[in-house]
Amino acid sequence: MEIACLDLEGVLIPEIWINFAEKTGIDALRATTRDIPDYNQLMQQRLKILDEQGLGLREIQEVIATLTPLEGAVDFIDWLRERFQVVILSDTFYEFSQPLMRQLGYPALLCHRLEIAEDGRVVDYKLRQEDPKRQAVKAFHSLTYRVIAAGDSYNDTTMLAEADAGILFMAPDNVVAEFPQFPAVFSFEDLKQSFITASERSLEL
Ligand SMILES: [Mg+2]
Repeated sequence: MEIACLDLEGVLIPEIWINFAEKTGIDALRATTRDIPDYNQLMQQRLKILDEQGLGLREIQEVIATLTPLEGAVDFIDWLRERFQVVILSDTFYEFSQPLMRQLGYPALLCHRLEIAEDGRVVDYKLRQEDPKRQAVKAFHSLTYRVIAAGDSYNDTTMLAEADAGILFMAPDNVVAEFPQFPAVFSFEDLKQSFITASERSLEL
């Protein structure tokens, strides 16, 4: 039995924080883990900016609702779900992902949760667990699933390593160079082919 684990941002949907920064014009929100490696510090900075700008969950969701999945992503996930059980493993938050998950047909999603005050302010966040993507793959292994995983960035590499087959999709040059052990593909057609190649079953495009 095989399960497909997919990263969300950069694979199926645009980077939420970068798009949110662009739509609101708040440049300071463009920072990602590449600028501030400490995720905790980065999130605290983001929450502080949201607070200063008076942006609560509602305003954020309104902006996110204007985003659409990456071109070809809906077709791809439909294709994948006909051939594999599919679970999205993401470092986003359920409260942010909702509008985009609707457009993807609500595949199973394991991610994190925000703490929202009664007035809608984002006061804190709760990570599901440490190294969550790797832990999820380990858990699927304990359920006797063979795991094929795809992601685009540093936070996916422990998931790709833990999986039976790991694929880099639309990864930046530095990630591709640092992790030559994973095949790197740059189109949904090639990603489909990579899943077929990694599968132990004889699947067709
Ligand atoms: Mg990503």
